[in-house]
Amino acid sequence: MIVMKFGGSSLASAIAIRRAAFLVRSEGPRNPVVVVSACGTTTDQLDAILEDASQGRAYLAWTKQRDLASQYYSLASELLAGVEVVQIEQYLRDVFRDLHLLTIDLAENGRELTPEIRDRGLSIGEQLSSRIVAAAFNRAGVPAVHLDARELIVTDDHFNEAAPVLWETYAKIRAALPEPTARSVGGPIPVLAGYIGATPDGRTTTLGRGGSDFTASLVGAAVHAEEIQIWTDVDGVMTCDPRVRRNVHRLTTLSYEEAAELARCGAKVVLESAMSYVCPLA
Ligand code: ADP
Ligand code: ASP
Ligand code: MG
Repeated sequence: MIVMKFGGSSLASAIAIRRAAFLVRSEGPRNPVVVVSACGTTTDQLDAILEDASQGRAYLAWTKQRDLASQYYSLASELLAGVEVVQIEQYLRDVFRDLHLLTIDLAENGRELTPEIRDRGLSIGEQLSSRIVAAAFNRAGVPAVHLDARELIVTDDHFNEAAPVLWETYAKIRAALPEPTARSVGGPIPVLAGYIGATPDGRTTTLGRGGSDFTASLVGAAVHAEEIQIWTDVDGVMTCDPRVRRNVHRLTTLSYEEAAELARCGAKVVLESAMSYVCPLA
């Protein structure tokens, strides 16, 4: 079994999502489990919406929600057809109505933007992306089944930076993803949201920004995956952030110590992966 994690930058458009479907199909014989981030910059957009609403900027929050919703409606119509579009559109309507009610509560009823409420808002990105990606995979001829990460990743109630309760999480993942031998090869590929989880009493949490890599590690450790692939928009670790400098080169080797040092200094591309090391099952 392998885990394939797709970052926001590798799910930022319909073309990118189709490319992900193609990559997953090519790994079919290795029983992939797919973990997804929110598409593109969705989490930043949600953060801005919640912040605006909490500062009483209701109209600004609403225009940003409208823009975000229209991005998802466009993705759905580009990727899906027929009854699938109708189903996803119904889902989008429900999700964006809930977000709207939440922002009204913050902006007009003076509700405080607590870490718990923030997690409820920020988690929307991965909830949306995981459903759309699963539906898009099916449409692209890659049978997929959506799993709700909040039913698998059990965490404490340290909202915004929740820590997983490892053994319970592993047990739930293993129950949901039986060993490949018990799963017929060619069966539907599980797709779940990264970054989000829930407390034992069912309150939504997040694992900290960039936490989808952590989810991929949790899934990998739980099922003894032979490999965890992190798909992003750069072709490896470069000598510098390519968004900052041109003419960067790909590093051919990187020791664990060097990666840890880079992570300590805050290098974005390795920070999340290095942080996401978790204790594998004995
Ligand atoms: P994802 O959305 O897939 O999780 P991230 O945005 O978390 O991806 O990380 C990928 C980004 O990391 C790249 O787009 C790149 O701009 C940035 N980055 C920073 N430092 C480096 C580096 N040394 N090598 C490669 N990418 C880097
Ligand atoms: N979507 C979340 C973030 O932007 C988690 C992730 O992408 O890993 O931080
Ligand atoms: Mg990331």
